[in-house]
Amino acid sequence: MSEIAVLLSGGLDSSVLACWLARQGRLARAISADYGQRHRCELAAAAAVAAHLGVAHHVVQLSDLARHLPGSALTDATVPVPDGHYEAASMRATVVPNRNMVLIAVAAGIASAHGLSGLALAVHAGDHAIYPDCRPAFVSALQGALVTALGDGFRLEAPFVQLSKANIVRCGHEVEAPFALTWSCYKGGARHCGQCGTCTERREAFALAGVDDPTEYDHV
Ligand SMILES: [Zn+2]
Repeated sequence: MSEIAVLLSGGLDSSVLACWLARQGRLARAISADYGQRHRCELAAAAAVAAHLGVAHHVVQLSDLARHLPGSALTDATVPVPDGHYEAASMRATVVPNRNMVLIAVAAGIASAHGLSGLALAVHAGDHAIYPDCRPAFVSALQGALVTALGDGFRLEAPFVQLSKANIVRCGHEVEAPFALTWSCYKGGARHCGQCGTCTERREAFALAGVDDPTEYDHV
């Protein structure tokens, strides 16, 4: 089966995807980016997951990008990270305009340069409400562009695109994903805050999946 790369943020979803692909013997490389995200501790998590799986890990430096992207709580320190449920309107503050287009373009080029046949990304159904660049229409449009740019054989794979986060946790449990190595919290403190949108979603997903959550949260 053809080998591919994974776009690995160090979060729960992409880490499970990396483990799922590794279990199939398809994962050759993991690619992360420092785009100036405030929770850049996720990059250490990505490195730990890649090391756990024994695959090469690229960290692309795009850290200056955040300086040019005002208004997102993920890249602009003057915007508070919202608490609450992930699908709440307040979570729109965590959108980074066109981020996935940038990251996928960079990572697909790296994958192709290393002779790989595709790139996997871990967008899922829970992302669709607020993140336009996580929706199936975006993935299929970009697949068309990448085939034009990199050749007919290049595939942009998004196997979790219709899954809930709880189902991703179930999948991770089956493939023995190292959940404790992953990082979700957008606040980027020493531990997961337990209150921001992505912490809330992470906790709910473990509870719904009936899988033990090894995460240490500041607010229980
Ligand atoms: Zn948090």
